[in-house]
Amino acid sequence: MKPRTRIQKEVVRLSGGLPDLTGKQAAYAFEHCFKHYAHRTKGGIITCTKCGHRWKSGHPLAETVCGCTCPHCGMELEVLDTRKRLFKDTEYYSVITARKGYQVLRYFMASVTRRVGQPAEYSLIEVVQWWIAPDRPTRLSSRRTGDRPNPARHAV
Ligand SMILES: [Zn+2]
Repeated sequence: MKPRTRIQKEVVRLSGGLPDLTGKQAAYAFEHCFKHYAHRTKGGIITCTKCGHRWKSGHPLAETVCGCTCPHCGMELEVLDTRKRLFKDTEYYSVITARKGYQVLRYFMASVTRRVGQPAEYSLIEVVQWWIAPDRPTRLSSRRTGDRPNPARHAV
């Protein structure tokens, strides 16, 4: 929708000046929004789906019940015995900030694609902003569905 009122135009102008997420914020989203899996073959080879590291299973029952820790990246992993080799997830991540008298709630769509044996690929796309002020009506600013994501913008 094209901004028409003074407040709508102000929100659009201020929205353009919001900073990108920092690398630390993006890394937090990627670590805490998703479960991290270890893929285990019938032969007992475990592959971390976060970093792609492989190693031989030591205690299959304990790993099934308690999970395991990747010796390369240190991530706590849930062990999956499956022939599936591609895992995709999407979650939402939000950041609360303030700008020129507004409280701004920024929502990001976080996505991960994990292929067994390769490092995971992550992306963050900002989808919605809520602009809240005590003396002005609340405004919603959303990304048009046709907008192309810019994965490099939030790459970690
Ligand atoms: Zn790992």
